[in-house]
Amino acid sequence: MNPNSPILGIDLGTTNSLVGVVDSGFPILLADENGSRSTPSAVCIAEDGTITVGAVALRQRALHPTRTITSVKRLIGRRPGEGGWVPPYVLSDLQTTPVEVSAEILKHLKAVAERALEQSVSQAVITVPAYFNDAQRNATKRAGELAGLEVVRILSEPTAAALAYGLDKLGEHQKVAVYDLGGGTFDISVLEMRDGAFQVLSTAGDTQLGGDDLDRMLAGFIAEKLNLSAKDIRVLEAAESVKKRLSVDEAASFDGLDITRAELEKIARPWIECTRLHCLRALSDANLKAEQLDEIILVGGSTRMPLVREYVRELFGREPNTSQNPDEAIALGATIQAGILSGSLRQVLLLDVTPLSLGIETFGGLMNIIIPRNTTIPAKAGEMFTNAVANQDSMLIRILQGERELAKDNWELGRIEVPFPPGPKGSARVGVQFSLDADGILNVLARDTATNQDTTLEISGTAIDVEDERVEQMIAESVDLAFEDMNERIWTEAKLKAEELLPAVDAALAQLGESVEVRACAAEVRRLLDLPEHDARALKAANQQLDDATQSLAVMLIERAMEESLARRGLV
Ligand code: ADP
Ligand code: MG
Repeated sequence: MNPNSPILGIDLGTTNSLVGVVDSGFPILLADENGSRSTPSAVCIAEDGTITVGAVALRQRALHPTRTITSVKRLIGRRPGEGGWVPPYVLSDLQTTPVEVSAEILKHLKAVAERALEQSVSQAVITVPAYFNDAQRNATKRAGELAGLEVVRILSEPTAAALAYGLDKLGEHQKVAVYDLGGGTFDISVLEMRDGAFQVLSTAGDTQLGGDDLDRMLAGFIAEKLNLSAKDIRVLEAAESVKKRLSVDEAASFDGLDITRAELEKIARPWIECTRLHCLRALSDANLKAEQLDEIILVGGSTRMPLVREYVRELFGREPNTSQNPDEAIALGATIQAGILSGSLRQVLLLDVTPLSLGIETFGGLMNIIIPRNTTIPAKAGEMFTNAVANQDSMLIRILQGERELAKDNWELGRIEVPFPPGPKGSARVGVQFSLDADGILNVLARDTATNQDTTLEISGTAIDVEDERVEQMIAESVDLAFEDMNERIWTEAKLKAEELLPAVDAALAQLGESVEVRACAAEVRRLLDLPEHDARALKAANQQLDDATQSLAVMLIERAMEESLARRGLV
């Protein structure tokens, strides 16, 4: 796939359609020239053949009801006569087909995207209801092709919604119910996470139930109060706008008539009750009880109504997840899927940061962090190490994860043995590089720079897939024990320093003769090293004193050398 040409994510809805794209790693929905991210799924074919789509087409409906097609999604991929179904006369009258009408909507969305992106696009992911059969899916695909779009994936709507809600991060066998109440259809689906992908366990619903029905009921109520015709398109439009306002406000008015949310809810109650049996059906088909669901998400513009949210809460006995805009969730999910397919989203979608630090054990049993916790992945980092002991011919590298100062308190992910030619202490040069890819796979590369010999180890998953609880516990421990840990680290470092200093001091004294002061300092270091409890700060201070005292030894060494050299030349 061409990385420069994005893949669109499209929600081809019954009432409204939306288009999105992944831009700089983020899924965004694209707005048309009026700033709207949602296009009514309406197409008007004028007498002269001119085709308009969206809000413009919808406005024509009052004038040309027989030339404006809405809810074409109900017709796509269905054969006349199928289930006693007859195509509406408007289509045959206009000599067009559901595929052609859908293609007009898709063409429009493609144009919206191309205008917003300032580049041409030729590929798309399009969503369809989970219950769409092969004929309906193929017809949707054909509509895409007719609109000049290669349909790289047909995605089921509840799966798209779950992606938008970030539920792809759910664990294996977790279950989600997707409650989708749109303009003209109601869909309820139960999904289960299996092998990292969503499986549709069951789907139920009503293809003739949605917000439009409530608009008609409310229009009837308003018409009666105001002595108007409920069929009047103006009343119908007012009803929808009043309904939407009542999702936010307690009251709204039309033509001097005040309507309260309570009044709307009284009308809406029987309407929303109609979804109940479908929900129970979907649960029983999936062989589940409501309490076995891990999540319930709301999709579709009608779920913005407080009454609907309350109803779902009652029905499923749990708080529905409303963290996404319900009318944008499907398009957002389609966009995320498109981003994954084009490779532009993998990074953002799957994993974000390392939950815990990654490092290796160094001399003295200390943790040496190579990739710190909370680093955005993919990430790459490395360090150079050397041999601590003369004539060592290999180095054991233990790969660790955790926040504690001492290697033993962290978790070991793996170990590798790096061979190198024996030599004096500090002569080996081993580079250790960690690279953590977007899928959470940690590759460890150790290279002996003398021979350029590489040793590698791949650690999959474990570097990233750590249960939240274990991460929290590790961090809590590292905070609680920070003081003790730090003391141990300083102690270990001071001990290593002392073990280096003492033999050097002994050698110098042997050469130069005794120094009471230096002896006393060395004895103090030895005493502290032998104490059962580790006094890190005292040892560090004693090391420093010994170091200072030997400074005079060093000066003496130089003076002695000078004298000898001058004497040799007979100058003193
Ligand atoms: P579809 O999936 O059928 O294309 P949408 O998800 O776009 O439909 O939902 C459209 C329906 O949502 C319409 O009936 C519209 O009136 C309704 N709707 C949109 N916003 C609100 C709102 N704030 N309150 C109540 N209903 C709303
Ligand atoms: Mg929808």
